[in-house]
Amino acid sequence: KKRNPGQTEFIQAVQEVAQDIFGFIEDKEEYHAAQILRRMAEPDRVVSFRVCWEDDNHNIRVQRGWRVQNNNAIGPYKGGIRFHPSVTESVLKFLAFEQTFKNSLTGLPMGGGKGGANFNPKGKSDAEVMRFCQSFMTELYRHIGPDTDVPAGDIGVGAREIGYMFGQYKRITNRWEGVLTGKGREYGGSEMRPEATGYGAVYFMENMLKHKNDAIEGKTAVISGSGNVATHAAEQITKQGGKVLTLSDSGGFVHDPDGFTQEKIDWVKEHKTHRRGRMSEYVDEFKGATFHEGQRPWSVACDLALPCATQNELNEEEAKALVSNGVMAVSEGANMPTTLDGVHIFHDAKIMYGPGKAANAGGVAVSGLEMSQNAERISWNHERLGQMLTELMEGIHDQCVEYGDQGDGYVDYVKGANIAGFKKVADAMLAYGVV
Ligand code: NDP
Repeated sequence: KKRNPGQTEFIQAVQEVAQDIFGFIEDKEEYHAAQILRRMAEPDRVVSFRVCWEDDNHNIRVQRGWRVQNNNAIGPYKGGIRFHPSVTESVLKFLAFEQTFKNSLTGLPMGGGKGGANFNPKGKSDAEVMRFCQSFMTELYRHIGPDTDVPAGDIGVGAREIGYMFGQYKRITNRWEGVLTGKGREYGGSEMRPEATGYGAVYFMENMLKHKNDAIEGKTAVISGSGNVATHAAEQITKQGGKVLTLSDSGGFVHDPDGFTQEKIDWVKEHKTHRRGRMSEYVDEFKGATFHEGQRPWSVACDLALPCATQNELNEEEAKALVSNGVMAVSEGANMPTTLDGVHIFHDAKIMYGPGKAANAGGVAVSGLEMSQNAERISWNHERLGQMLTELMEGIHDQCVEYGDQGDGYVDYVKGANIAGFKKVADAMLAYGVV
């Protein structure tokens, strides 16, 4: 806390991991002596910079941008860029720290990083977003590269923003190279990347249920968010015969007791991404649904819960409500959506709980495959990537079971993910000596 004053999100993330790692390294002197956990909790580098841009009314605006390069022991830094007014150095440090474990769990050679800016894309014109992205990349380009650091999208950064940033990188450097992932399919993007995080979170859920000889078919699911992750999670739950009861945005949640069919999910995708609309407008389009302004969906009774919006969106009280309504399993599409107190409620109730660093790793895994395809200058097809994603998620699940099985039939997936993710990075750092 003294080293990172005021960085509550970062401290929360490190504390959560440290609890599990201390238990694991208790009798392993080599990790202690090398201060591995302390070294992992100090980013290799935090770059902070001014992003100056002109709005449509010719006002000069100034934002702050960051790139946190947390750890590159096992591969180039890799992690998304977030544009949201809530972005701070603490939030990005927490995300970069978590990303290091997540990327390690995928089994692919990727280190951990994260970046972004306190820019609010909401209500901005296309031209404003373009100018902002170009200005952001005008500084960022010197810190990244296909073998150095490969950013991707995150909240507020989708295909449009990646396109503007990739274009600017190419213009400045005169190089076409796989420096960003989540690109459009026309210019080096990978099949399955848009679907990967949401589908992957559902595959993780499927694997947790399978471990208990159960399945998604016939189950009800509550999902938060209505962005990339949430809509694809909803799509995959529906494909597997589950019924999605809710989606949400920062204005509130929609409860559709008839379930979100593919047609309804397609409407949400179009409405949120292309029309940049609000979830409150869903009820004008589809009868039988209700909108709950300013509320989160966790009070709706369900078998499965998938928080897919943002960090700290599911607290202790909400976790209790889910448990008392009989939730069986939680799979996190978002990063750290459940508060630490909420996680304790799930553990105490022995609910299957897949933390974001494992459950949402499908996105970065397919990003890793996008890097491979760019390096080889080839594209694999949808079917092949779909198969690879399924296998990667199964592999992540199995590593969590290996290190998280409590011996009484209960799997502590948080512990499993933390230890499995830690071990690979820690062993690489040990191999490098004191650097
Ligand atoms: P999007 O920008 O596509 O969607 C974000 C969604 O969350 C929107 O519905 C947004 O609502 C809602 N939201 C954002 N902030 C808040 C808030 N403070 N309170 C309530 N709702 C909020 O982002 P993604 O779907 O890509 O990302 C969602 C989460 O998944 C994030 O935690 C991200 O880090 C994580 N993630 C994403 C990956 C990816 O591949 N995209 C990979 C791994 C993790 P509104 O429209 O009102 O802002």
